[in-house]
Order: sequence, then C-alpha cells, then structure tokens
Amino acid sequence: MSATVLDGNKIAGEIRAEVAAEVKSMTAAGVRPGLAVVLVGNNPASEIYVRGKVKSCEELGIYSEKLTPPETISTEALLSLVGELNQRDDIDGILVQLPLPPQVDSKRVLMAVDPRKDVDGFHPMNVGLLSTQRPGLVPCTPAGIIEILKRSNIQIAGQEAVVVGRSDIVGKPVAMLLINRNATVTVCHSKTRDLAGVCRRADILVAAIGKAGMITRDFVKPGAAVIDVGTNKVTDPAEFARLFAGNTKREESFRAKRSTLAGDVHPEVAQVAGAITPVPGGVGPLTIAMLMSNTIRAAKLRRGSNVELISASSS
Ligand code: NDP
Repeated sequence: MSATVLDGNKIAGEIRAEVAAEVKSMTAAGVRPGLAVVLVGNNPASEIYVRGKVKSCEELGIYSEKLTPPETISTEALLSLVGELNQRDDIDGILVQLPLPPQVDSKRVLMAVDPRKDVDGFHPMNVGLLSTQRPGLVPCTPAGIIEILKRSNIQIAGQEAVVVGRSDIVGKPVAMLLINRNATVTVCHSKTRDLAGVCRRADILVAAIGKAGMITRDFVKPGAAVIDVGTNKVTDPAEFARLFAGNTKREESFRAKRSTLAGDVHPEVAQVAGAITPVPGGVGPLTIAMLMSNTIRAAKLRRGSNVELISASSS
C-alpha cells in the first residue's frame, strides 16, 4: 500500500484563485487590499522570501509595498516606520521579515504591529483570539495545514491528532487549530517520553521538528494522515543515502546540486500512511497562499465585514 500524496501546489493554486477572485470584487468595490513587507538589511534568504511574497501579491492583484531600511536601523526608527504603516489606510497587512539585526529588539517591533494588520498572526492579541476562537489572524503555515486537511476531505473532528513540535510559529498554533476543530490533540517536544509510541496513536500526525527524516515508519499508525512541515537542507551523502537511496530522480539532483530538501518524515512512511504531504510541494506552497488570504481577511476585518472563519472556526 502506498499513501495518497497530498499535493500542496494544487491546493495552494485553488486558494490563490479564490483570493484573486475576492481581490477583484473588493477592488471593484473601491477597496484594494494592500500588504507592506519590511525587509531590513540584505539577508539573502530573506530577500528570496520577500521576493516570493511581493510576486504573489502582483499575481493576485494585491497592492504591495516593499520597505528596505538599512541593516543599521535602530529599534526606535523601525518602531516609527511600523507606526506609520499602522496609520495608513491603504495598508491592510504588515509583515516584518525575520530575522532582524541583533541591535533591534524584535519582540518590541512585532508587538508594535497593529494586531488588525498582523498578517503573520504572531501578535499576542491574535494568539489570544485564536485560543478563544474569536475572529482574528491565524499564522500562515498552521492555517495552510488545516486547509490541506479540509480540502483533502480528511476528517478532523473526533480524531486523535499528535503534533511534534511546540514552536509559537507552527506547533502551538496548529495544535490550537486542531483543538478548535474538535480533534483530541497531544503536543510532543524534545522531552516527550516514548515519542514513537505517542505518535503511533495519531490519526493525524503533524511533524514540525526541523530534523530530516526523524519520523520513521515505526512512528506511524497504518492509514494515518501525515503532515510534514519540516524543511531541512541535506548535504551529507550518508544522510542522503539513509533517506533517499534508490530514488534515482533525487540522486541525480543531489549529485548536481550537492544538497536536497528533506522533510521531518522519512520517505518510507509513505508505505504505511494513508495520506502524506511531500517535501517539497506539500505544506510549503500553502504558507504564501495563506499570507495572501490573511491580507484580504485583514482588509475585511478592519472594515468590520463579516469574515468567514477560514481556519479558526470549530466546524
Ligand atoms: P523550532 O526549532 O522552533 O521548533 C522545533 C520543535 O521541535 C521544538 O518544539 C522542539 O522541542 C521539537 N524537537 C526538536 N527535536 C526533537 C526531538 N528529537 N524529539 C521531539 N521533538 C523535538 O522549529 P519551527 O517550528 O519553526 O519549524 C519546524 C520545521 O518546520 C523546520 O524544519 C522549519 O524549517 C519548518 N518550517 C516550514 C515552514 C513551511 O512553510 N513549510 C514554515 C515554518 C517552519 P523543544 O521545544 O523541546 O526544543
């Protein structure tokens, strides 16, 4: 038996098409959603992420503005920039790309973003709204995971869900979303005893760890839905062989690039699971799609429109 592969690119495409249609009707009604992305300095990885976000806005008709203060900016100057964006009516979403340079107090800056414009969903106000099931902005990757499950007709209510990882960005919010949708949720971390045994209880297993191929087949109940959030760059040939030996396509690409992107879930899990997200092409594409969706959600929330609770609701 081989698991159904949950195609993140296809699901992200559906969401993007829905967002584009929504943007069109909002723009026709005189409200063009706008996203401001603040990119401090010249971190090459951050530049690539920001380029992807701005391009996605262009494709979907969302107004976007990239602000690029210098690497040397002070906390006060960045706070005042965020303050200006908070005041602007044409900006619905504000995203401060992390990491910020060491002299900047990142927590103060993130706290300064108006919660109604906090499209990353990291502000404590939005964390509180999520945990009390009120309309707010939900972090993009966790919201994307729920969309994958929902759009793949994988039942959540009543199911045993195990989340490995308890970060504020992925593990905790995805656990909260699953609770809100009536799953019975266990959150695991580096101090969990008998991790494999706990994971084997899961009908839905979410791996957000950051360790290539750590979840092997003995962690997985036959037929479970496995969501692999991990994005790990593998460069060691022995590690590559442990994960991908016999996969000729991967082998060719590894020889050429000397690296490959691996999830937290070992590929052998596909022989046991009922459904699985690939890496790349699983959760990753959903993250930007949900950022776009959060931007229009923020535009509506701020204007007091009734917003259908995409991922925060209990149904
Ligand atoms: P963090 O490093 O913040 O959190 C990792 C979590 O995994 C921690 O809670 C940690 O436990 C736990 N953990 C680490 N080792 C073990 C272990 N041996 N056994 C059990 N638990 C363990 O990572 P993030 O949540 O930010 O990201 C997780 C992964 O998801 C990364 O690979 C990241 O690149 C990827 N990611 C992908 C995204 C996408 O769009 N596809 C978006 C965001 C992240 P403890 O708390 O005890 O230290």
